Parts: sequence; structure tokens; C-alpha cells
Amino acid sequence: MAKGFTLAVLPWVYIGKYNEDEHWTGEYVEKPHKSPEEEAALSEEERQKLQAQRNSFPELPLVNYTTQYGMGCFEGMKAFPQKDGSLKLFRPDQNGERMHNSMIGLKSPGFPVDMFVEAAKGVVRKNQETGFYPKYDPAWEKDDFLSGESIYIRPFSYSEPAIGLGVAKHPGVVFASTMVGAYFKPGNNKALVTDKIRAFKGGTGWIKCDANYVVPILAKKEAEAKGYMEAIFLDAEHRSYLEEGSSSNIFVLLKDGTLVTPELGDTILPGITRKSILQLAQDMGVKTEERRISIEEAMSEGQECFVSGTAAGLSYIESITYGEKTSVFNKGKMGELSKQLLNTLKGIQYGKLEDKHGWMYPVVD
Ligand SMILES: *Cc1c(COP(=O)(O)O)cnc(C)c1O
Repeated sequence: MAKGFTLAVLPWVYIGKYNEDEHWTGEYVEKPHKSPEEEAALSEEERQKLQAQRNSFPELPLVNYTTQYGMGCFEGMKAFPQKDGSLKLFRPDQNGERMHNSMIGLKSPGFPVDMFVEAAKGVVRKNQETGFYPKYDPAWEKDDFLSGESIYIRPFSYSEPAIGLGVAKHPGVVFASTMVGAYFKPGNNKALVTDKIRAFKGGTGWIKCDANYVVPILAKKEAEAKGYMEAIFLDAEHRSYLEEGSSSNIFVLLKDGTLVTPELGDTILPGITRKSILQLAQDMGVKTEERRISIEEAMSEGQECFVSGTAAGLSYIESITYGEKTSVFNKGKMGELSKQLLNTLKGIQYGKLEDKHGWMYPVVD
């Protein structure tokens, strides 16, 4: 079983295409595979060979607007094993809407939301039917699903063949997926404020497009080289308001009990985990605010801090370093509210807690 967040493409993928007649069509494609048991017994060399076949898409053009100029977008979402043996997706309709917005934002035709949800369900269902899915383990309940496994689905867009500057008029979409094992984090949860800029007014910070990832990955690597786990971005205009982590939204619980996260706009990615956490906090009676928050306010008034995103759900930040100054939150430990929010989110996703808001979508109707 794959551990952590490494790529092990599952056999069934979905490929959609915006055709010359301006309609979307799609199909499920079965890539080369053996049984899960046979694959587990393969040597490393054999495994890599099979994975290379699975990660090869001869139907896609290699030279295009996406590979040359970053004119592509993507999504990330998860399916969770349930006690009754079924699998459920977390809010795929929201990912579908965001993918549609991202494609429109790139001046391409948007992949329809209903087709998106069907494709996400279908890919997980077909892999399950072939035996490729994590099975619910009651032992996960003991650590509130921190050790829980899931399926990560990665839909992405790509353009038709092209070399000149332009936008995709006949894009395609691919839904690939991989198993995600227990997510063991490296040594620390320290964050460093970067002086790099992720997004700016008039830019593409509000859509989940490939190009947005270049600067954050560089900033995260620089932070890691200095011994931090995460890079935090400030706004481009004033260089003083919190924006996001490297690929995650940021929250600060103030000493007065208010949970604050930067308000959405041109430069903030509308995270689905962000939206869900705001709802869960409100359900708990916590006062929430979506507004500008300066780095000074976060460092002097914050009692807990965390970043949110599909990969980890919620990761607490033990400290923020900004220039010469470092602020430690909750003595460097995960705070009570952070813990409660993470446990509630995971409890809903793995079916231990009631899904009051209708967030979970079974992959079999
Ligand atoms: C994907 C992403 C997030 C998190 O979004 P989720 O829907 O919660 O996974 C946050 N910030 C950026 C920049 C992202 O690309």
C-alpha cells in the first residue's frame, strides 16, 4: 500500500474532450494492470514499468498551450472509505464548480459540473470494482482518522496541440487518481513569511491554475531549506496582510475567540476545506470573520493558527517567523479548536459523524 502522498496511478482514468461540434464527450479508460495482490508482489523495477504505462497518455498531445505556457488548471479531491464498505466523495460538486470557473478564467470552455461529478464518481467506482481502493479499518477511529487512508482524485485540463500564444478552444480533461496512505508529517510545523509574491490584483490567484504554483513551490522549497515546513504569503500591494500558505488557506484564532481567515477576492483561492471549516466553526458557535488580517495582528493577537486544504485537511502552524521576529502559538502544540475542527471534518468524511450539510456523495447511486 502506498504511504504518504506519492504517485501510484490507479488503473481506471476518465478522459473528456470538447469536440469540434462544441460538445463535451468522455470515456473511462482502463490502463494496464494486474490484480492488487499481484501488483503488491512486484519488484520495484516491475512496479515502475507498470506505473510508467499507467502514466502514459498517447491520446494527449505533448506540445500544447498547457505544457508550453501553463494554460491549464486542476482540482484535488478525495474519496473516503466508509464502515459499510462503500466509498464517498467529499463535496465533488464544489470541485466541479471551481474547475468550471478555472477553465472559464483561462478563456476556455468550462467542463460541465454534472459531468465532473459523474466522472469523479465513475473513476472511483471503476477502480473499486477492479479491487483498487482502501478498505475501512476500525483502527483508524483510535486516532480520529489521522492514520486513515483515502483516494486522491486529480482532474486536470490540457489544451489541443499548439505552439503559438493562445487559449485552449478545444480543451480536454483527465481524471487520474492515486491511493493516499497515512499522512506522516516531517519534524516541525514552523512557518516562514516569504517575500515572494503568489498573487496580485488582476492576476489569476482566484482560480486553481497551473501557473499559480510556480512561485509557491519555490517559496516552500526555500522555507524547507531553512528548516520550516510552510511558506506564508503576504499581499502584493501592502506587503502586510496574510494571504495564503504555499497551497493552502490560512486561519488565525484570535485571543478574543474569533476565527479569522482572509476574505476571498482576486488573490485568494476559494478553498473547499476553507469553506467547510468556516461552516463547522459556526456550527460549534465560534464567531468567524472573513476579512483582511495583518501579519502583525496574527502574530500578536493569534492563539492558534492553521492552514487548510484537501491534502491534509487542516495542519496547525506552531510558529510564524517574519523577518527577525517569531511568534509561537499555543506553546507550539496543536490548539483545542484546531483539533476539534480537524476531528469533526475527518469524522464526517469517514462517516463517523452525521453529515448534516449533505457534503458526502456515494460513488454508487
Ligand atoms: C487548492 C488550493 C487550496 C485548498 O483548496 P481545497 O479546496 O481546500 O483543497 C488553497 N490554496 C491554494 C492556492 C490552492 O491551490
